[in-house]
Amino acid sequence: MISGWNLYQTRVKCKRPFAIATGTQDECSALLVELKTADGLSGWGEGVPLPYLTGETLTGCQAVLEQLFLPALLGEDPRGLEGLRRKLNRLAVNQPAARCALDLALIDLSSRLHNMPCWALLGGSNQPVATNYSIGLTSPEDAAQQARSLVEQDFTCIKLKIGQDPDFDLDRCRAVRGAIGPEIGLRVDANEGWTFLQAKRFLSRAESLDLQLIEQPLVRSDFEGLKRLRAFSSTPICADESLRGVQEARRLAEMQAVDVFNIKLMKCGGILEARDIVAIARAHGIDLMIGGMVGESSIAVAAATAVASTWNFEYADLDADLLLRANFSDGGALHQPVGYRYLSEQPGWPVGQMHAESITLLASC
Ligand SMILES: [Mg+2]
Repeated sequence: MISGWNLYQTRVKCKRPFAIATGTQDECSALLVELKTADGLSGWGEGVPLPYLTGETLTGCQAVLEQLFLPALLGEDPRGLEGLRRKLNRLAVNQPAARCALDLALIDLSSRLHNMPCWALLGGSNQPVATNYSIGLTSPEDAAQQARSLVEQDFTCIKLKIGQDPDFDLDRCRAVRGAIGPEIGLRVDANEGWTFLQAKRFLSRAESLDLQLIEQPLVRSDFEGLKRLRAFSSTPICADESLRGVQEARRLAEMQAVDVFNIKLMKCGGILEARDIVAIARAHGIDLMIGGMVGESSIAVAAATAVASTWNFEYADLDADLLLRANFSDGGALHQPVGYRYLSEQPGWPVGQMHAESITLLASC
C-alpha cells in the first residue's frame, strides 16, 4: 500500500548546448517522484515537462502532482496499474509528463513487490537495443567531425538534426554520410522546420543519402501534408511532434499519413499509454521508434529502453542521458557495448545512488 511520497526537482547540464530547429538547451530541470510503502519500499519515476512538447511547465507539473495525483495514490495498491491509470486520467486531462512520472514510479514499485525486473513485468526480455547518438544543428564540417568521432567510439547509427534551409541541410547530410561511409545508419530530424515545398525539395534530392527515416518534416498539425509527402518520398516519414497520445496515433494510422511513429513516454504519459499506441501501430503496419527528450536522465531512459526491448521497436533514440554531463544518479540503463542499451536482471528501474547536488526536495507526505 502506498503510504507516502517525496517530490524532487532535478537539475542537470548538457555536455554541449543542444540545438534543434525550435531552440537550444543547455541546462535541464525535471521532476522526480518517490512513492513509498509502509514496509520501506520505494518506487521512482521521472517526469520531464517541456512546454512545446508536453504542454506543461515545471511548476505546473509540480502543482498537478502535489495537489491532485500524489494525494490520490495514498492508500492504493501500486500493483493495480491499469485501475490507477484510469483514476489519474479522471482527475486531470493531458499532463503527460506528470502522469509519466507516476506511471514509472508505480511500475518500479510493482516490479519490486513482484520481485521481477520491469521488462519481465511488461512481458518482455532484456535484449540489448541499438541506439543512435544525436548531433544537434551545427555546420556540415562540425557535424561530420562529430559523426566521425561517434563511429570511432563504435556507435552504428547517427541521428542528425536538420530543418533549416533544405539545401544547407542536404550539405550537412552529405558531409556526414561522407564521413561515416555507407555502413553506418543515418536518420534525420527536421523538428517541424520546413514548409511542404522545402520538405519536398529536400526529400527529392536525398535519395542517394540512404536515410533510414526523416522525423517530423512539417508542422505537427499538418497530417495531410505528411500523407502527401509520404506518397512520393522513398525515405520513410516518421511522426514525432504530430504524435502525442492514442488519439493522434489513431488519426495518423487511419489516414496512413506516416511510416513510423516516434513514441516518447513524456508525450504520451507513460508505459501503459505507450503500449496502447504500440497496438495501434502494429495493427496498421506502422514501424516504431522509441524517442527521448533532452533532459531525460537515468530513470526515463531506462524505462524507454524497456519499452523498445519489450515491443521490438525498429528504431531507438536512447541517448538522452548520454547527452548530459552528469545524470542525477549513478544508475541508468547499461551502455556496454557502446551503442546498445539494456537493463539488468534486477527488479525495478536502475535508480542508483542519487547525486545530492543534482536533486532538491520540493514536497513530501
Ligand atoms: Mg524528433
